[in-house]
Amino acid sequence: MGFSFVIEHMEEDEPSTHSIPPWVSLEYQQIRSLVGPGNTVRFTHLSRTSVDALQKLWPSSAEQATSNVATTQVTEVGVLELMKANNIPLEKVCLLDPKATQGLSPEDGDGRFEWFLFGGILGDDPPRDRTSELRVLGFPSRHLDSVQMTTDTAVGVTKRVVVDKTPLNAIPYTDFPTIRFNAKESVEMPFRYIKDASGEPIMPPGMRQLLKDDLDKGFDF
Ligand code: SAH
Repeated sequence: MGFSFVIEHMEEDEPSTHSIPPWVSLEYQQIRSLVGPGNTVRFTHLSRTSVDALQKLWPSSAEQATSNVATTQVTEVGVLELMKANNIPLEKVCLLDPKATQGLSPEDGDGRFEWFLFGGILGDDPPRDRTSELRVLGFPSRHLDSVQMTTDTAVGVTKRVVVDKTPLNAIPYTDFPTIRFNAKESVEMPFRYIKDASGEPIMPPGMRQLLKDDLDKGFDF
């Protein structure tokens, strides 16, 4: 059965497409890969158009079985309603919250929690504490240290701690990395990432290109 990793979507749809912004689908695809088979990922509180868009992107359970990703649920329903439908009591759901008093530990995966809940939020710099909208619902919570992560990084770290039993401070991180596109263009990311064997931040496939496209369009991150 494994754990459920729940991403409560809290971003507006793009006005032009009335669907999730490109960075969201890249992060959400990455989350399915990071959680991997044996666990479930639930994307909740999505608009109807976003549910349709993601279900097209991630067609069938056959795809899930062959592409080594987590069993995936995509729904308009919010996390509280989904908990009721699955008979999951509040105390079994751990909110990952930068402002929690206690850090996540491998023991949190020994029966204390069944669901791990994240805000589906584009990190802001400085953070605007939008996770507070979930905090007020009274979930038990854990932090992943004090540096803001992207949602997919937070999910990847949580999975390493509660599934792979790696302590939080034994995971290799890189903070505020500069993503260099060429001699003149680069962007500094205001987040903590897990770093790979060559010391590079682990980011969703396609994200670097998206950042470069946005840089060329003159967006600031
Ligand atoms: N800037 C946003 C957070 C975006 S990160 C805010 O204002 O809240 C998206 C989600 O990843 C958060 O809602 C939280 O669930 C998780 N997360 C990110 N960094 C974290 C940290 N250091 N500790 C615990 N959870 C974190």
